[in-house]
Amino acid sequence: MSKSHFKELKRYKNGNRSGILKTRRGPVKTPFFMPCASRGSVKGLQPSQIIDSGTQVLLANAYHLHLQPGEKVIKKLGGLHTFSGWQGPILTDSGGFQVFSLAKARKVTEEGVYFKNLASGGEVLITPEESMQIQFDLGSDIIMAFDDVTGLSPTGRTRSKEAMERTHRWLVRCITEFKKLTKNSFKGRTLKGVKGTTLRNKPLLFGIVQGGLDKNLRKKSLEFVQSQEVDGIAIGGLAVGETRKEMYDMLNFLAPFYDPARARYLMGVGEPADMRYAIERGIDIFDCVLPTRNGRHGQVWITGDKRLNLNNLKYANDRGPIDSKCDCHTCKTGYSRAFLRHLYKVGDPLAGSLATTHNLRYLARLCEEYQQT
Ligand SMILES: [Zn+2]
Repeated sequence: MSKSHFKELKRYKNGNRSGILKTRRGPVKTPFFMPCASRGSVKGLQPSQIIDSGTQVLLANAYHLHLQPGEKVIKKLGGLHTFSGWQGPILTDSGGFQVFSLAKARKVTEEGVYFKNLASGGEVLITPEESMQIQFDLGSDIIMAFDDVTGLSPTGRTRSKEAMERTHRWLVRCITEFKKLTKNSFKGRTLKGVKGTTLRNKPLLFGIVQGGLDKNLRKKSLEFVQSQEVDGIAIGGLAVGETRKEMYDMLNFLAPFYDPARARYLMGVGEPADMRYAIERGIDIFDCVLPTRNGRHGQVWITGDKRLNLNNLKYANDRGPIDSKCDCHTCKTGYSRAFLRHLYKVGDPLAGSLATTHNLRYLARLCEEYQQT
């Protein structure tokens, strides 16, 4: 087991904990939320605006960037940080989930996953080894193992065991490839031009726990992943259409079995109430499309984890900010609900940027409540 890159600072009575994840681009306070920058950008926001929201880490997508513009192009241009202008840590999704969401166009074999390139129409094969290479070339700071994700359809449920076992075999292949890739390239070097870089200049690798809604499988999977040389544990295959009760039940079940020395990442969850529930069951990291996608469509959270739809006619004459208790740039500047509604009505993308800024700040503040200050 490599040296732990996670430090638990404090554990609280209600189950949550605060900690520090040490990445090569500096320490990150946990718990934290990562917005999706699937194609390299958080839609409508510049890096300085993302930093202002209190966001510490971005999630980029290996699958999308592999197809367009290609990791080799990004590598040649200096890596994803230089290419996108975001200098904070980046976690890259391995592509497993995207392959799952495009399930109609995929074929899983032991070698890897074949799927249709929807842009070009051709067939693409991604293997665990290739997924590692793609993420490495992008310059990712936190690399995700390549997993076999199943859904909750009847076939998905019966395939849980098979998919879990394949995910484990693929994890072993990912670790071998990850070691090969990181063996020499970072020895004794610090990252060029990055302030606060530590000597931990190797990216981190997270393994993914599968097992659907079967508790025995989930426990087996968690034990297997924790027996491997991984820096963090991700819970995959939840938030894929199960009921809230089913997800909560699994989070409660898994809570006593986590290794305290590693970060825990619940993939795809970003509804405030769900985040609070998961944080209080020991989860440290989240990602979700909700704050950005909802922001672009006029949905914002306000104090109390309630949701407003700014398109609603009742805001047409509302002079107030989205949330008078919020300290985000949008609310502090005093943009009114009426003005935002107007921007949505006339199709001005500024509306999406302003609401996304607010939503990201909302989730960052939620996490800050649980962080050690
Ligand atoms: Zn705000």
